[in-house]
Amino acid sequence: MSAEEAAVQTGPEQAGSAPATGNPARPIPYERFLDCVHCGLCTAACPTYLELGDENEGPRGRIYLMRAVADGRLELDDRVVRHLDHCLDCRACESACPSGVQYGRLIEPFRVGLRDELGKSPAIGRLERLVIGRLLSSRPALRVSLGAARLAQVTGLDWLMNKTGLSALLPRTLRRMREQLPRFRYFVPRLPRRLKPVGERRARVVLFTGCVADVVFRQTHWATARVLQQNGCEVHVPRGQKCCGALAYHAGLLRPALPLILANIRALRDVEADAIVVNVAGCGSMLKDYRHVLEEALAIADPGARGEIEQCLEWADQVVSRVRDVTEFLCELEPVPPRGRMDLRAVYHDACHLAHAQRIRSEPRRLLRMVPGLELVDLPESEVCCGAAGTYALTEPELSDRLARRKADNIVATGVHAIFTPNAGCLIQIQKALRDRDYAAWIAHPVEVLDRSYRELPPPLPT
Ligand code: SF4
Ligand code: SF4
Repeated sequence: MSAEEAAVQTGPEQAGSAPATGNPARPIPYERFLDCVHCGLCTAACPTYLELGDENEGPRGRIYLMRAVADGRLELDDRVVRHLDHCLDCRACESACPSGVQYGRLIEPFRVGLRDELGKSPAIGRLERLVIGRLLSSRPALRVSLGAARLAQVTGLDWLMNKTGLSALLPRTLRRMREQLPRFRYFVPRLPRRLKPVGERRARVVLFTGCVADVVFRQTHWATARVLQQNGCEVHVPRGQKCCGALAYHAGLLRPALPLILANIRALRDVEADAIVVNVAGCGSMLKDYRHVLEEALAIADPGARGEIEQCLEWADQVVSRVRDVTEFLCELEPVPPRGRMDLRAVYHDACHLAHAQRIRSEPRRLLRMVPGLELVDLPESEVCCGAAGTYALTEPELSDRLARRKADNIVATGVHAIFTPNAGCLIQIQKALRDRDYAAWIAHPVEVLDRSYRELPPPLPT
């Protein structure tokens, strides 16, 4: 009998809140489980179901499992935890669901209960906790470690480690991180605190710079700032902002994410800006979810921590209501048409946290189609996750690689050599997948092609 069947066949339905003790569903209002009518229309949209063909590896099965655990009808054994660990939190099931099930608001708090509260997940050991909770979410720590990685690449030490087999001695998570890293070619300085608009000011915006993106993809931040300037925006980059907390929270680690969320709300609530512009889909989705996350945090917080969370909950809307993905913001503003020609055939890969979590699909395509000479070709399975999924590539390497290969197959079949996607994790994952194929391509954020077109620069050579 499958775990799903076990969940279906056991016990009467329970109303009200789920039992508290040792129950990972504690912060989840029970009614959220009841939204699912088990129709299964989401199943074919789920990347893990597509790869594994198992009901328990799809959204309907996972909702059954979580609810059965919440009811106390199913023991939280390793088999159940693995099915839930395999979920990418890509939220493709939300797009497919006609009943409006908020799957993200189920799996994310459940995962916090599982990993942060109960410490029950084979995918997140001590090293993963340290890497995700401390290293990847801290800009100073990232700067030091990526500085060392850059030095290793430049001096050839990295190459030597591969040749001598020394890299195989690294723990799996560190080895994966090293493999995923893009090739660092040049140093990019950080953005100044303020950049003036080109021409008359149309808006005053804050650019959210995040953590990994601010260290690995600064060229994208510069491109975003220049595109905003070209569109009449005065761009501010407040220094008090921190990592949005998505990498830790989406991995089920609310404890390290919470101080970052509170700090960002304090830093951003009073800024004078028409919009808080974000160019990383995962960060934008997280910032837009701050209210929900704080409500869930409040449900499990110690009495001593409640006051601060309650205070930030009162302020949350001042931040959340102004958060915009850069493509969403430019389309609302009515973008200035770029003039520089880009003779490119290109595809657009939908980042899950833009397409499914923020429901933004047409805006990036509209901007790309504005670039003279750029031909946008359809990418088969554009909305299927590439396997990056925050820290999934580190914690679930086998499934992540399968999805990366699937994405690479689809890209290569189109024959294009320019791929645009609005998320740092997807950029890293697709770069690596195509590098493994020796497939030369320009892989960039949509704002980068807009920026080059505004500046009338040719596209860079594919690498
Ligand atoms: S979030 Fe993605 S991986 Fe998880 S159940 Fe939904 S579609 Fe499947
Ligand atoms: S999540 Fe939505 S689509 Fe999937 S089984 Fe439940 S009601 Fe149906």
